[in-house]
Amino acid sequence: MITQKLQDAINGQIAKEIWSANLYLSMAFYFDKEGFQGFANWMKKQSQEEMEHAYTMADYIIRRGGTAEVRQIDAVPGTWDSPLEVFEHVYEHECYVSKCIDELHDMAIEEHDKATQDFLWTFIREQVEEEATASGIVDRIKKMGATAIFNLDEQYGKRV
Ligand code: MG
Repeated sequence: MITQKLQDAINGQIAKEIWSANLYLSMAFYFDKEGFQGFANWMKKQSQEEMEHAYTMADYIIRRGGTAEVRQIDAVPGTWDSPLEVFEHVYEHECYVSKCIDELHDMAIEEHDKATQDFLWTFIREQVEEEATASGIVDRIKKMGATAIFNLDEQYGKRV
């Protein structure tokens, strides 16, 4: 059985994962409007992955005898100045998510809940990839410059 404190905290994280999914969907809509269909495709996949994180966390709470919640989700931003600004935002946001997951893990240690510590390690590892992917795209956009951005758009359009 999961403690009430950890259940509340993971439910809070579920809301953050859904907010992340909405943020990336909003970025997909921005890219579609700006004519970057490839980046839009990439963002839609990213959004789906965030929803999968929410489902996985909800499933975990339920398997541990707790109750999963869908809380109110705040509005997400809808406009950016450039693809570079969007991916810088993705990188910053993923660093924030990493910090949240780390804090959850700290709480699981305080609560002496080894199963939750083990569960969270998947997300801790995932965040290493998320940060590296986002900062890698930021670097590429900076190095390639504005004209070559359409090549990147085409490349990220191939994400399945
Ligand atoms: Mg996530």
